[in-house]
Amino acid sequence: MEQVGAVLIDIDGVLTVSWEPLPGAVAALERLCAAGLPFALVTNTTSRTRASIAGRLAEAGFPVGADDILTAPAITAAYLREHHPRARCLLLNAGDIRSDLTGVTLVDEPDAAPDRDVDVVVIGGAGREFDYAALNRVFRHLQRGARLVAMHRNLYWRTADGLDLDTGAFLPGLERAARVEAEVTGKPAEAFFATALAHLGADPSATLMVGDDIESDVVAAQRCGITGVLVRTGKYLPETHRAATGKPNHVLDSFAALPGLLEHLSTSSG
Ligand SMILES: [Mg+2]
Repeated sequence: MEQVGAVLIDIDGVLTVSWEPLPGAVAALERLCAAGLPFALVTNTTSRTRASIAGRLAEAGFPVGADDILTAPAITAAYLREHHPRARCLLLNAGDIRSDLTGVTLVDEPDAAPDRDVDVVVIGGAGREFDYAALNRVFRHLQRGARLVAMHRNLYWRTADGLDLDTGAFLPGLERAARVEAEVTGKPAEAFFATALAHLGADPSATLMVGDDIESDVVAAQRCGITGVLVRTGKYLPETHRAATGKPNHVLDSFAALPGLLEHLSTSSG
């Protein structure tokens, strides 16, 4: 690759686990900052705003602000502004992420009349809000011709007491019932990486993506022409690595080894 000009970094499993910094991660990000290398933290998280994530990471010592963080909701807002401008959107999400949906017109339900026009149904992360009434309301809007945009298709996420069911478990039912296909905006969608690159003004061939999910972070970024770096922390499992549909350009024991890789790449590309 050419000289590294920008780095995209997944948060959970790369910089932190349960919001606690992984060993050496703070120091490694400080070195990127000191070198003046543009970076963005990219996450499918739908339960927190960029400001809240930035606050949490800053508390843990990471040199970041809200502008350095791109969440699936923030990327979805950019996608909606570009592909569905001025659309009236119905949001179904667990957690209040409205402040990250800049420029998106949200139709408030259930206050609105049930037949109120909705152009796009936007599905975020699952939670107790995904009850029968809410899902049926979404189904009715889809039947009436509303488009379906989903922030991701994750099947579950890890909580302190086990795995919890996520959006990917509900989405196929809605798609089949309403005979529509969701436009997915979060990782591993190309739209996600394209928006992140545009945010940094970066060229894919000069960008690294560092993640612990070989498919959603690494192989998906490589499909967009980005150099994929897998870390052996977070959800990394040797068997998932072996069975993956692609091969990372680089594999690191942890994010702490990234400055070393960057040095190596800058000497080898002259
Ligand atoms: Mg991760």
